[in-house]
Amino acid sequence: MASSTAESFTFKTEIQELLHLIVHTLYTHQEIFLRELLSNATDALSKVQFESLTNAELYDKDQPLQIDIKLDEKLKMITIEDTGLGMTRDSLIEQIGTIAHSGTKKFLAELKQSKNVDSPELIGQFGVGFYSVFMVADYVTIETRSMDRDAAAVRWESDGTGSYTLAPSDRRKRGTEITLKLKPEYEEFLNEHRIKHLVSQYSNYLPFPVMLNDERINEKEALWRKSKADISDDDYKEFYKQIGSDYQDPLFWEDISSEAPVQFRSIAYIPKRAPAEFAGDDSDHGLKLYAKRVFIQDQCKQLIPRFLRFLRGLVDSEDIPLNVSRETIQNDRNILKINKIITKKIIDALRKKGDSDEAAYLEFWKQYGRYIKEGVHSEIDLRDKLLPLLRYHSTKESDVPSVTLSAYVERKVEGQEAIYYAIGESADQLRKSPHLEFFLEQGIEVLLATDPLDDLMLGQLEPFQELAFVNVESGELKLPERLKEETQPIEVEGELKQLQEKVKATLQEHINEVRFSKQLKQSPCRFYNADGGMSHSVKKMMLQFEGMGVPMKRDLELNPEHPFVLSLAKQVEDEGVTDRIKLLYHLANLLEGQVAEPQELAQLIIPLLVEETPTDQ
Ligand code: ADP
Repeated sequence: MASSTAESFTFKTEIQELLHLIVHTLYTHQEIFLRELLSNATDALSKVQFESLTNAELYDKDQPLQIDIKLDEKLKMITIEDTGLGMTRDSLIEQIGTIAHSGTKKFLAELKQSKNVDSPELIGQFGVGFYSVFMVADYVTIETRSMDRDAAAVRWESDGTGSYTLAPSDRRKRGTEITLKLKPEYEEFLNEHRIKHLVSQYSNYLPFPVMLNDERINEKEALWRKSKADISDDDYKEFYKQIGSDYQDPLFWEDISSEAPVQFRSIAYIPKRAPAEFAGDDSDHGLKLYAKRVFIQDQCKQLIPRFLRFLRGLVDSEDIPLNVSRETIQNDRNILKINKIITKKIIDALRKKGDSDEAAYLEFWKQYGRYIKEGVHSEIDLRDKLLPLLRYHSTKESDVPSVTLSAYVERKVEGQEAIYYAIGESADQLRKSPHLEFFLEQGIEVLLATDPLDDLMLGQLEPFQELAFVNVESGELKLPERLKEETQPIEVEGELKQLQEKVKATLQEHINEVRFSKQLKQSPCRFYNADGGMSHSVKKMMLQFEGMGVPMKRDLELNPEHPFVLSLAKQVEDEGVTDRIKLLYHLANLLEGQVAEPQELAQLIIPLLVEETPTDQ
């Protein structure tokens, strides 16, 4: 089919990989090709609409902005044509020839990781863009003419295996026409009813007319121009799938309108699943920005604070000038005001959700708790508003992390002046931690925090309802007067004093302070934090961050009533006691769920095992 002047190109490896997956592995949701093409056409139309505001030289300036779908029963072809900005030969090679869409890159990365290649959630979350056409077509042609007056029209053709061809085209109209020769098993897409249904299901609220046989088949009015009362939940959900490129319903959404101090309407959605983020990845986020219904920017980061980057949706404002550029958006005072209002409304809505529908809120929390903690950490001005959104596991409740700070405060014991928290890998592990023995015995609740962010965040919070945040590993527990004595260091004498000295000397490489106290109940020892400042793991993190590999010393607390400690005290002058003292260090690590120097630990245990074996047979 390629013309004689056609030039042949091979697809880049990543595209070949994607195509292989699309054709051989993705068996579900073939109809998304239509949504993807309509969405690309809409982007192209939005861009040309924006361009036409300032560029009088635009090619084919008076062309109406719309999308035409044509079905050809005889040739088994479906054509989607737009009058958008079109593509030049170079941009065709660059944009269709590479995986431009960062979502598609993530999609590939996640597919490789998960092996769960046929997961509709994955496909829904990322979309596969233009290349989804090869799910249903065995031959595809693109004819395109750029809005740039001087650019020639181009024809692109491919069967989606290894290569494509480029040739001159005689297209005169600005825009892009994509023709799919359908595979025999997908001829359902030649059916008018099927197409109408798909458009109304997935693409009803596209802001340009979608025509089929000269009849407009999508809604005339943009969803966000309607009054809230006229929008059903299903409308909101459909709209989300269109603009959020997601297959699943959103978790929930907020429809926000404001008249003063700045006029705007925003529909902001929370997807069911948090985005797959890779370390250091600061790519796509933000809401779509429209000014007076004209599309300005796809992902406007300035509209929401970074920690709310999981939101999807749009903002349309009468108070944003049409000629804003990326640079002026950064400094636009109205954008800043919109950001403030959206942030406040979203936080309020989340708080209300937390009060009224715990199950739904916990679903949110599971996906987005990390983001909220990030917000508490980074947005000092918003802290008071964000703290009620936090949820934790605690020693008083099990299964789900459902404890709020206020619920914790309500349950405080007499005279309690602190909110106690423990940091560890899992709530179950933490419940068995030696740090908690004292608190469990006293009936004082402890929050069990399992996110590395918690450590950093809780450690720097100001008191909440006058209760300071205190890590249970701290040597300064701020306990009520009557309990203070329980946890004070004990001045020991005789063998115990000797033991204290000996432990200090033996473990000096790992240990700073050694103290006795009554705080431990069942365990022989634990690490505590003598200066009461930053927790051990935060200190370690900071050191790593500064690139300092200094080994970090810890402080060791001993239980003066524990049989192991007492037996060490008895043998304090024996030669062999040193190795057993070393075990204290290893035990404290094990009790925190960690192993330090496993080989040394093994060497220390082996003699004990041999001694235990009966030798007289
Ligand atoms: P995405 O649209 O998510 O970036 P696609 O693979 O669907 O990824 O498209 C790649 C690129 O090709 C687009 O970003 C756009 O630059 C260009 N493109 C696709 N369809 C059109 C179209 N109808 N008109 C103009 N450009 C298009």
